[in-house]
Amino acid sequence: MPRPAGTGREEAQARIRRFLDRERPATPCLVIDLETVRERYAAIASALPGVGVFYAVKANPEPEVVALLATEGCSFDVASPAEIDLCLAQGAPAERISYSNPIKKAADIAYAHGRGVRLFVSDSEQDVRAIAEHAPGSSVLLRIFVEANRSTYPFGKKFGCDPEMATDLLRSASRMGLRALGVAFHAGSQQLDPNGWDGAIADAAAVTAKLRAEGLELSTVNLGGGLPSAYLDEPPPLAEFAAAITASIARHFGDHAPRVMIEPGRAVVAESGVIRSEVVLVSRKSYSDERRWVYLDVGRYGGLAETEGEAIAYPLRTGKDDGPRGPVVLAGPTCDADDVLYQRTVYELPLDLTAGDHVDLLGTGAYTSSYSSVAFNGFGPLATHCVR
Ligand SMILES: *Cc1c(COP(=O)(O)O)cnc(C)c1O
Repeated sequence: MPRPAGTGREEAQARIRRFLDRERPATPCLVIDLETVRERYAAIASALPGVGVFYAVKANPEPEVVALLATEGCSFDVASPAEIDLCLAQGAPAERISYSNPIKKAADIAYAHGRGVRLFVSDSEQDVRAIAEHAPGSSVLLRIFVEANRSTYPFGKKFGCDPEMATDLLRSASRMGLRALGVAFHAGSQQLDPNGWDGAIADAAAVTAKLRAEGLELSTVNLGGGLPSAYLDEPPPLAEFAAAITASIARHFGDHAPRVMIEPGRAVVAESGVIRSEVVLVSRKSYSDERRWVYLDVGRYGGLAETEGEAIAYPLRTGKDDGPRGPVVLAGPTCDADDVLYQRTVYELPLDLTAGDHVDLLGTGAYTSSYSSVAFNGFGPLATHCVR
């Protein structure tokens, strides 16, 4: 059902607040609103009709999140045997799992194959050979790299290869008895430009056309992740991304419309999460500096890894937001000099904020719990609670 703008988000915040007021869980913790996950998944699936949506499990591997998405019909992008086990245990059939990490051990490929996974992404000769040997007859996509662009986290050259090499590897895959399915890429995470997929779609179409001319018909293009989420800044609406991507595929593939896969992680789960933290200390560094330092009980190692370089700026909420505010530097609780969250990004917090008050970080459902360390400095991993 269509909802009035904003209502869904407000209802979700109300559900999370009710949970926090009622349960008073130990902080820091992440609270995930499952209804928001369902809504975001449905929004992506309906904005891109006919496109296979593979949730990138690393964004938030909470079993309840995976189980809900499996029930909704979502497919999954995994990177390791443990993520395969997680998806299968939560009800995702093996046919809906793509092993999209090009960096894998032969033993892990064999394990995936043993568990029924038949779809792999690769970017190297060694890996294609290993798939042919340990997962014979499987389908493979070859990942190409994507030129630097407006994403917050470009993937650079760690993954992918140039299109010429991908073309060769698709040919060899086919010769080795694999199903050469098509080209994959990742346009960079938190991609803010709706046209950020266009260059790679053009490259994928060129590879596809070249191989078609030789009689090797590729069926698929995998657009990877990158759909953005709202943080302090609101990205363009999902509809603009869907329109740009759809137009780009039509423009470059023409009459030979491919099957399309997309692997959103952040866009499915980020909005659903709130991290509740507690203020450990408020201090000043000199009598003249107006800025207070606010130390929270969550930091870079407790799940806020994406504050590195202040790339992602989470909206904050406290229980004292009605009063006067002043500028702050925000830092985590550990004895590590890098455990500072924001000192360039302008944040203002209530002047009467004190130790024991809570600070909520909004939009923290993606790349938080999955990045938190086991116990750096003795601080435990970020606990997750799900509300429905
Ligand atoms: C991490 C990852 C994704 C998800 O990226 P988002 O930017 O979170 O959407 C998708 N595909 C692959 C191969 C990834 O490694």
